[in-house]
Amino acid sequence: LDPTNQNYSSEELDVEKALRPLSFEDFTGQDQVLENLEVFVQAANLRDEALDHTLFHGPPGLGKTTLAHILANELGVSIKVTSGPVLDKPGDLAGLLTNLDERDVLFIDEIHRLSPIVEEYLYSAMEDYKIDIMIESGPNARTVQINLNPFTLVGATTRSGLLTAPMRARFGIASRLQYYSTELLSTIVQRSAQILNVPISMEAAIEIAGRSRGTPRIANALLRRVRDFAQIKGNGTIDIEIARFSLKALNVDAYGLDEMDNRILSTIIDKFKGGPVGITTLATAVSESGETIEEVYEPFLIQQGFIIRTPRGREVTELAYKHLGRVKGGIQGG
Ligand code: ADP
Repeated sequence: LDPTNQNYSSEELDVEKALRPLSFEDFTGQDQVLENLEVFVQAANLRDEALDHTLFHGPPGLGKTTLAHILANELGVSIKVTSGPVLDKPGDLAGLLTNLDERDVLFIDEIHRLSPIVEEYLYSAMEDYKIDIMIESGPNARTVQINLNPFTLVGATTRSGLLTAPMRARFGIASRLQYYSTELLSTIVQRSAQILNVPISMEAAIEIAGRSRGTPRIANALLRRVRDFAQIKGNGTIDIEIARFSLKALNVDAYGLDEMDNRILSTIIDKFKGGPVGITTLATAVSESGETIEEVYEPFLIQQGFIIRTPRGREVTELAYKHLGRVKGGIQGG
């Protein structure tokens, strides 16, 4: 259940697709982001123009891909999907761009991982809907400029800090997605249970939601595993007992923290006496990049009150000691 893991089996991807909300109305949470998008989409539809290029940033599993699909649906256009690491040659990008119909959406996931050449190439496409392509080769080789249909680029990134300034400047709309409250996640769990056709009690939905690290993707994944337990060890219904039993068997942390979250906390306690510790030092100690810690892990740990930021670095709170069963100032052990 690693939230940063982007490798899924095709069966998992199918279920993920089935659980994906398709319209603004279907989408739970992120109210401010949604309210604004609805206005921009309505305005674009009214003027029959392409929506401005849109950037979504925020930790994995919060709904960036889902929103890109919803935008296309609400604009009444098609969407083409690709990702930064896949687009390694300008030619690949040219192929995609020239196949877009008027107002279509091109979704580029992990847009911070575009190669500099491809990124450069994208600039004129975004700005003027024009690209240069090479035709023929050898002595006859020359570039011609071709016009593209007006389109909307929707970019998603977990690491906005890695986006170049010129890239960022080309997005007219930029929204940051936030972690979901337990209440919102329990609504999502109930909706998913209905789609998966498994009865679930309110209490059980809240229990699963509370251990999902504020992330719909994790909530849906836990729901599917708990459903397995309910069908094999229970009577098919997810009630609070079977939910607790399954979450225990799955070794899910009471607060929904994952392995890296816990490693960050225990490292600050064990190696740095609870902090404060600078981000670079901490990053080295847990073998993760400072930016990933800052953009993917730390926001949740801060939001949940496990870590505080001080001018001298990160410090863990009482809650972190309690969660890991440590005593503050006590004997440090591994
Ligand atoms: P991201 O692109 O940010 O990594 P996705 O859009 O792929 O996240 O969402 C992951 C899963 O979580 C999808 O299966 C989607 O159905 C579900 N999901 C995300 N946001 C919501 C939401 N607001 N309401 C219901 N389901 C959601």
